[in-house]
Amino acid sequence: MSAEIIDGKMVAELLRNRVKEDVQQWCDKGNRPPYLQVILVGDDPASIVYTGTKTKACQQVGIQTETMVLQDTISEKELTQIIQSCNSNDKIDGILVQMPLPSHLSQHTVIETIDHRKDVDGFHPMNVGRLSLDQPCFKSCTPAGVMELLKYYSIPVKSQYAVVVGASNIVGSPMAVMLSRENSFGKATTTICHKYTRNLTAHTISADILIVAAGQPNLIKAEMVKQGVVIIDIGINRIADETHEKGYRLVGDVDFESVRKKASWITPVPGGVGPMTVAMLMKNTLLAAKKSLYPK
Ligand code: NDP
Repeated sequence: MSAEIIDGKMVAELLRNRVKEDVQQWCDKGNRPPYLQVILVGDDPASIVYTGTKTKACQQVGIQTETMVLQDTISEKELTQIIQSCNSNDKIDGILVQMPLPSHLSQHTVIETIDHRKDVDGFHPMNVGRLSLDQPCFKSCTPAGVMELLKYYSIPVKSQYAVVVGASNIVGSPMAVMLSRENSFGKATTTICHKYTRNLTAHTISADILIVAAGQPNLIKAEMVKQGVVIIDIGINRIADETHEKGYRLVGDVDFESVRKKASWITPVPGGVGPMTVAMLMKNTLLAAKKSLYPK
């Protein structure tokens, strides 16, 4: 047996095309194009790549965007003042502060400063809280993208046993909430694992759907999963590899070659969840422009 591949690149393209059409229709009605303000603090190479990918996607779908690059020495007060001025600027629909931030800046303070109505990343406590109540809100892009993939491939979620490995505020935790709480497509019985989980395999081996977001290359091996499992690998890890032009290659958290022999469905890395994250950001920015979630 070899798993069917979940093609995130293809599904993300479909989604981006849909957003592009919707943006066009929105503008045809006389509205200005949606506007995403990206804020990048410092010069972390991965963050530069991620913001570049997001900006490019905006341009493809007709969303206007600008990246404000700030020195990594900026104080928290200065940064929050900049965010507040974006909050009160009616021409800005969505605000994205690229994470991680330099260590002297509190991620919580920065996220809470963003107006929740412009929080297209879905990280603000208002959006996280509403998510856990299954109320309309901006949903964290990566887990929302995973839900879209499951939907696209008609992979059943309701009543399934889902295990999420990784419990971060921005990926693992909202993923578990969506799987367990969402009335529309969720309602899986869900377990969330983290570093302090005793005997990880005892949980992963029972999963019908196993979602991994730990940032640990090859954490999940074939002997840890059951036959027919659906595998969603969110992890992105750089592994040194001299045969590659860049001197490294990207791998997920799952030992793809061994696990695919037991799984029914599996996401590759790259080309699985990553492109969906960006597509969901485009969708959220359009929702922000239309004020669909928070009309006032
Ligand atoms: P974090 O480092 O914030 O969180 C990792 C989580 O995994 C933590 O909850 C941690 O536990 C848990 N964990 C770490 N090691 C183990 C282990 N051995 N066993 C069980 N749990 C473990 O990372 P993020 O959530 O931000 O990202 C996770 C991965 O997903 C990364 O590889 C990241 O690059 C990738 N990512 C991919 C995206 C995409 O678009 N595809 C988007 C965002 C992230 P504890 O809570 O106890 O510390």
